[in-house]
Amino acid sequence: MGIRSERGHNRRRKDMVDRQIRRRGISDEAVLHAMSLVPRHAFVPESQTGAAYADCALPIGFGATISQPYVVAMMSEALDLEPGIRVLEVGTGSGYQAAVLAACGGTVFSVERIPELHERARHALDETGFAGISLRLGDGSRGWPEEAPFERILVTAAAPAVSAALRAQLGDGGILVAPVGDDRLQTVRRYRKRGARFDSEDIEGVRFVPLIEDPQT
Ligand code: SAH
Repeated sequence: MGIRSERGHNRRRKDMVDRQIRRRGISDEAVLHAMSLVPRHAFVPESQTGAAYADCALPIGFGATISQPYVVAMMSEALDLEPGIRVLEVGTGSGYQAAVLAACGGTVFSVERIPELHERARHALDETGFAGISLRLGDGSRGWPEEAPFERILVTAAAPAVSAALRAQLGDGGILVAPVGDDRLQTVRRYRKRGARFDSEDIEGVRFVPLIEDPQT
Protein backbone atom coordinates (compact mmCIF):
# COMPACT_ATOMS: atom_id res chain seq x y z
CA MET A 1 0.00 0.00 0.00
CA GLY A 2 1.27 3.49 -0.88
CA ILE A 3 2.47 6.02 1.67
CA ARG A 4 -0.40 8.29 0.65
CA SER A 5 -3.15 5.84 1.51
CA GLU A 6 -1.34 4.86 4.74
CA ARG A 7 -1.46 8.54 5.72
CA GLY A 8 -5.16 8.63 4.91
CA HIS A 9 -5.79 5.57 7.11
CA ASN A 10 -3.79 7.11 9.95
CA ARG A 11 -5.80 10.32 9.78
CA ARG A 12 -9.14 8.49 9.66
CA ARG A 13 -8.06 6.30 12.59
CA LYS A 14 -7.19 9.34 14.70
CA ASP A 15 -10.58 10.89 13.85
CA MET A 16 -12.29 7.61 14.74
CA VAL A 17 -10.70 7.59 18.20
CA ASP A 18 -11.48 11.26 18.86
CA ARG A 19 -15.00 11.51 17.44
CA GLN A 20 -16.49 8.04 17.88
CA ILE A 21 -14.79 6.84 21.03
CA ARG A 22 -13.33 9.57 23.26
CA ARG A 23 -16.27 11.90 22.63
CA ARG A 24 -18.73 9.16 23.60
CA GLY A 25 -17.15 8.83 27.01
CA ILE A 26 -14.49 6.11 26.73
CA SER A 27 -11.62 7.31 28.93
CA ASP A 28 -9.41 4.22 29.44
CA GLU A 29 -6.10 5.48 28.03
CA ALA A 30 -4.85 1.97 27.25
CA VAL A 31 -7.93 1.32 25.08
CA LEU A 32 -7.70 4.70 23.34
CA HIS A 33 -4.01 4.14 22.68
CA ALA A 34 -4.57 0.58 21.41
CA MET A 35 -7.27 1.68 19.00
CA SER A 36 -5.13 4.51 17.69
CA LEU A 37 -2.43 1.93 16.87
CA VAL A 38 -4.23 -1.12 15.45
CA PRO A 39 -4.75 -0.73 11.67
CA ARG A 40 -8.45 -1.59 11.46
CA HIS A 41 -8.33 -1.40 7.64
CA ALA A 42 -6.14 -4.52 7.61
CA PHE A 43 -8.96 -6.54 9.24
CA VAL A 44 -11.82 -5.77 6.83
CA PRO A 45 -12.41 -7.36 3.40
CA GLU A 46 -10.72 -5.42 0.59
CA SER A 47 -14.10 -4.25 -0.74
CA GLN A 48 -14.70 -2.55 2.64
CA THR A 49 -11.32 -0.81 3.06
CA GLY A 50 -12.83 2.61 2.37
CA ALA A 51 -15.34 2.12 5.21
CA ALA A 52 -12.85 0.64 7.69
CA TYR A 53 -12.98 3.68 10.01
CA ALA A 54 -16.71 4.39 9.63
CA ASP A 55 -18.95 4.54 12.69
CA CYS A 56 -20.61 1.15 12.10
CA ALA A 57 -20.18 -2.61 12.02
CA LEU A 58 -19.12 -4.08 8.65
CA PRO A 59 -19.79 -7.48 7.05
CA ILE A 60 -16.76 -9.78 6.91
CA GLY A 61 -18.48 -12.77 5.26
CA PHE A 62 -20.12 -15.95 6.61
CA GLY A 63 -22.80 -13.89 8.36
CA ALA A 64 -20.19 -12.36 10.68
CA THR A 65 -19.39 -8.70 11.26
CA ILE A 66 -16.47 -6.70 12.59
CA SER A 67 -18.07 -4.70 15.42
CA GLN A 68 -18.53 -0.94 15.36
CA PRO A 69 -15.35 0.73 16.70
CA TYR A 70 -17.24 2.21 19.66
CA VAL A 71 -18.53 -1.22 20.69
CA VAL A 72 -14.99 -2.66 20.56
CA ALA A 73 -13.82 0.22 22.77
CA MET A 74 -16.73 -0.06 25.21
CA MET A 75 -16.29 -3.81 25.70
CA SER A 76 -12.50 -3.49 25.99
CA GLU A 77 -12.91 -0.79 28.66
CA ALA A 78 -15.46 -2.94 30.52
CA LEU A 79 -12.84 -5.70 30.82
CA ASP A 80 -10.59 -3.46 32.93
CA LEU A 81 -7.45 -4.90 31.33
CA GLU A 82 -4.03 -4.85 32.91
CA PRO A 83 -0.74 -5.65 31.18
CA GLY A 84 0.15 -9.32 31.11
CA ILE A 85 -3.23 -10.79 32.00
CA ARG A 86 -4.68 -13.77 30.15
CA VAL A 87 -7.74 -12.99 28.05
CA LEU A 88 -9.98 -15.43 26.19
CA GLU A 89 -12.09 -14.09 23.32
CA VAL A 90 -14.99 -16.13 21.92
CA GLY A 91 -15.68 -15.22 18.27
CA THR A 92 -12.40 -14.19 16.59
CA GLY A 93 -14.21 -12.98 13.44
CA SER A 94 -11.82 -10.57 11.71
CA GLY A 95 -9.24 -10.68 14.51
CA TYR A 96 -9.57 -6.94 15.13
CA GLN A 97 -10.90 -7.14 18.68
CA ALA A 98 -8.19 -9.68 19.54
CA ALA A 99 -5.54 -7.25 18.25
CA VAL A 100 -7.00 -4.43 20.37
CA LEU A 101 -6.91 -6.65 23.48
CA ALA A 102 -3.28 -7.55 22.75
CA ALA A 103 -2.38 -3.88 22.14
CA CYS A 104 -3.85 -3.18 25.60
CA GLY A 105 -1.24 -5.58 26.97
CA GLY A 106 -3.28 -8.77 27.25
CA THR A 107 -2.00 -12.27 26.49
CA VAL A 108 -4.76 -13.18 24.09
CA PHE A 109 -6.42 -16.50 23.19
CA SER A 110 -9.29 -16.44 20.70
CA VAL A 111 -11.65 -19.12 19.36
CA GLU A 112 -13.61 -19.03 16.08
CA ARG A 113 -15.89 -21.74 14.65
CA ILE A 114 -15.72 -20.83 10.93
CA PRO A 115 -12.49 -22.14 9.33
CA GLU A 116 -12.22 -19.39 6.67
CA LEU A 117 -12.56 -16.60 9.26
CA HIS A 118 -10.09 -18.33 11.58
CA GLU A 119 -7.54 -18.51 8.74
CA ARG A 120 -8.10 -14.95 7.54
CA ALA A 121 -7.75 -13.65 11.09
CA ARG A 122 -4.46 -15.56 11.50
CA HIS A 123 -3.18 -13.93 8.32
CA ALA A 124 -4.29 -10.40 9.27
CA LEU A 125 -2.84 -10.73 12.78
CA ASP A 126 0.50 -12.02 11.47
CA GLU A 127 0.66 -9.21 8.88
CA THR A 128 0.00 -6.51 11.49
CA GLY A 129 2.50 -7.72 14.06
CA PHE A 130 0.19 -9.73 16.33
CA ALA A 131 1.66 -13.17 15.65
CA GLY A 132 1.77 -13.77 19.43
CA ILE A 133 -2.02 -14.10 19.69
CA SER A 134 -3.13 -17.74 20.03
CA LEU A 135 -6.04 -18.75 17.79
CA ARG A 136 -8.09 -21.91 17.85
CA LEU A 137 -10.75 -23.31 15.52
CA GLY A 138 -13.75 -24.70 17.38
CA ASP A 139 -16.83 -23.98 19.46
CA GLY A 140 -15.84 -21.17 21.80
CA SER A 141 -18.84 -21.69 24.04
CA ARG A 142 -16.79 -24.57 25.42
CA GLY A 143 -13.88 -22.21 26.10
CA TRP A 144 -10.28 -23.37 25.80
CA PRO A 145 -9.88 -25.83 28.69
CA GLU A 146 -6.16 -26.50 28.12
CA GLU A 147 -5.34 -22.81 28.60
CA ALA A 148 -7.77 -22.07 31.46
CA PRO A 149 -8.09 -20.32 33.83
CA PHE A 150 -8.39 -16.89 32.23
CA GLU A 151 -8.38 -13.60 34.13
CA ARG A 152 -10.71 -12.07 31.56
CA ILE A 153 -13.18 -13.54 29.04
CA LEU A 154 -14.83 -11.55 26.24
CA VAL A 155 -17.68 -13.07 24.26
CA THR A 156 -18.32 -11.28 20.95
CA ALA A 157 -21.40 -13.22 19.80
CA ALA A 158 -24.83 -13.11 21.42
CA ALA A 159 -26.41 -15.80 23.56
CA PRO A 160 -29.26 -15.91 26.10
CA ALA A 161 -26.81 -16.95 28.83
CA VAL A 162 -23.12 -17.53 29.50
CA SER A 163 -22.20 -21.23 29.23
CA ALA A 164 -21.17 -23.21 32.30
CA ALA A 165 -17.83 -23.98 30.61
CA LEU A 166 -16.95 -20.29 30.25
CA ARG A 167 -17.97 -19.56 33.84
CA ALA A 168 -15.81 -22.43 35.04
CA GLN A 169 -12.79 -21.25 33.02
CA LEU A 170 -12.87 -17.73 34.49
CA GLY A 171 -10.37 -17.42 37.34
CA ASP A 172 -11.39 -16.21 40.79
CA GLY A 173 -11.71 -12.42 40.79
CA GLY A 174 -11.94 -12.50 37.00
CA ILE A 175 -14.21 -10.45 34.73
CA LEU A 176 -16.33 -11.79 31.87
CA VAL A 177 -18.04 -9.44 29.39
CA ALA A 178 -20.71 -10.73 27.01
CA PRO A 179 -23.71 -9.55 24.97
CA VAL A 180 -26.61 -11.38 26.60
CA GLY A 181 -30.08 -11.61 25.06
CA ASP A 182 -32.05 -13.05 22.16
CA ASP A 183 -31.02 -12.80 18.49
CA ARG A 184 -32.47 -9.29 18.12
CA LEU A 185 -31.66 -7.35 21.26
CA GLN A 186 -28.89 -7.82 23.75
CA THR A 187 -27.26 -6.05 26.66
CA VAL A 188 -23.54 -6.06 27.27
CA ARG A 189 -23.22 -7.54 30.71
CA ARG A 190 -20.16 -7.58 32.94
CA TYR A 191 -19.80 -10.52 35.33
CA ARG A 192 -17.34 -10.79 38.17
CA LYS A 193 -16.48 -14.11 39.74
CA ARG A 194 -15.92 -14.05 43.50
CA GLY A 195 -15.59 -17.54 44.91
CA ALA A 196 -18.92 -19.23 44.26
CA ARG A 197 -20.59 -15.90 43.38
CA PHE A 198 -21.07 -14.65 39.83
CA ASP A 199 -22.33 -11.06 40.09
CA SER A 200 -23.43 -9.14 37.01
CA GLU A 201 -24.16 -5.59 35.94
CA ASP A 202 -25.69 -4.31 32.71
CA ILE A 203 -23.60 -1.90 30.67
CA GLU A 204 -25.26 -1.01 27.37
CA GLY A 205 -27.63 -2.27 24.67
CA VAL A 206 -26.01 -3.78 21.56
CA ARG A 207 -26.70 -6.06 18.63
CA PHE A 208 -24.32 -8.94 17.83
CA VAL A 209 -24.50 -11.95 15.54
CA PRO A 210 -25.60 -15.11 17.40
CA LEU A 211 -23.30 -17.48 19.22
CA ILE A 212 -23.78 -20.85 17.56
CA GLU A 213 -23.11 -23.91 19.67
CA ASP A 214 -21.90 -26.82 17.60
CA PRO A 215 -23.40 -30.22 18.42
CA GLN A 216 -21.26 -32.34 20.74
CA THR A 217 -19.19 -34.81 18.76
N1 SAH B 1 -14.71 -10.11 17.54
C1 SAH B 1 -14.92 -10.12 16.11
C2 SAH B 1 -16.36 -9.96 15.70
C3 SAH B 1 -17.14 -11.14 16.02
S1 SAH B 1 -18.58 -11.46 15.05
C4 SAH B 1 -14.08 -9.07 15.42
O1 SAH B 1 -13.36 -8.33 16.08
O2 SAH B 1 -14.13 -9.02 14.18
C5 SAH B 1 -18.96 -12.96 15.89
C6 SAH B 1 -18.10 -14.13 15.52
O3 SAH B 1 -18.40 -15.19 16.42
C7 SAH B 1 -18.34 -14.66 14.11
O4 SAH B 1 -17.13 -14.72 13.44
C8 SAH B 1 -18.92 -16.05 14.36
O5 SAH B 1 -18.54 -16.99 13.37
C9 SAH B 1 -18.31 -16.39 15.69
N2 SAH B 1 -19.00 -17.43 16.47
C10 SAH B 1 -20.33 -17.66 16.59
N3 SAH B 1 -20.55 -18.70 17.42
C11 SAH B 1 -19.32 -19.14 17.83
C12 SAH B 1 -18.88 -20.18 18.68
N4 SAH B 1 -19.72 -21.00 19.31
N5 SAH B 1 -17.54 -20.33 18.87
C13 SAH B 1 -16.65 -19.53 18.26
N6 SAH B 1 -17.01 -18.53 17.44
C14 SAH B 1 -18.32 -18.33 17.23
